[in-house]
Amino acid sequence: MTPVHVVVAGNTNIVTVLSKNMYEKGHKPNEKGLLFRKINERLNKLDASIGRDIRCPLCWERYAPEEIESHLSFEHVPPTASAKLIGETRYKTITCKQCNSTHGSKYHSALKRFLIFQLHQSGKYDGPIRGTITTSNDELKPLKSNIVMTAHNLKVVGVPKANADYTTQEHVSTWDEIAINKAIGWSFKVNLNYGFRIEVAWSAYLQVAYLLSYILTECRYAFSKGGMELRRLIQENKMDELGPSIIVPQTIGVGGTPWIVEVTEPSNLRCLWVKIAGNIVIMPLPDDGTLSCYREWQDISRQNHFGLSPQKTNLSIVSRYVKNANDFEQCVRLSK
Ligand SMILES: [Zn+2]
Repeated sequence: MTPVHVVVAGNTNIVTVLSKNMYEKGHKPNEKGLLFRKINERLNKLDASIGRDIRCPLCWERYAPEEIESHLSFEHVPPTASAKLIGETRYKTITCKQCNSTHGSKYHSALKRFLIFQLHQSGKYDGPIRGTITTSNDELKPLKSNIVMTAHNLKVVGVPKANADYTTQEHVSTWDEIAINKAIGWSFKVNLNYGFRIEVAWSAYLQVAYLLSYILTECRYAFSKGGMELRRLIQENKMDELGPSIIVPQTIGVGGTPWIVEVTEPSNLRCLWVKIAGNIVIMPLPDDGTLSCYREWQDISRQNHFGLSPQKTNLSIVSRYVKNANDFEQCVRLSK
């Protein structure tokens, strides 16, 4: 069924009206139904064959209005847990439940853990972090132990090789003794485990940046060469092939509203910069079907444990979707 165009009396605007029963037989559509309707209108402008359906922006499967409750779910961009950590504004779209449960939850967790890592490393996070502690002492005890570290203390919570409670207790007591004796003559190695793999975090950033581009361009990005190629990698779970794809802003943990700008010069570095979940994600321009931007940026950058650290380069940047200039400026004074 195609949308019905009606002219509202006394107003020259043409309003697109979709018949009510398409969404909720005889009822007013709920919030998800309304967003479905909005996305359907946007998709119709780009591909009229979509009819009354929408597509999941990640797997590109079609879904009918009758499937809203059974097959589709809201997707917050960035995900709520990450947005809360840094106070970033969220956008909302609809993805299918299949995508949401497969890579969705894994990526949500990787984004959050990566942000905690960044914040912790810059002294802006005092929540608990898990890890291990080992001594350099030759004696058998205490063994390498599991710890939880906070800003104020370090607590031994177990022993990896222990198979009985008393073994754990024995080692915890030994650690206590060392602590009480003020650790004279001992040295320790603490390894913190932030709970993510960097490749998974980069993939997660690419996915949320793709979703933000899809939302802010009113779905157009998903139809572009660059967008389609990224979606193929998302579907095939091959985004880690692209390598590092994020640039860390000057200030860690800036909140604000996500934005998109276009890097227009130098010509080899042309790309989109999408700021989302506290970092800047390199995204291909709509016409960059080969995703060449990643290689180019990796070539001029040093790689660190966060992502890319570009050498000093003069860039021309054109604002594309920036709500608040301050949000943008906080991030882009990168190489000064
Ligand atoms: Zn999907």
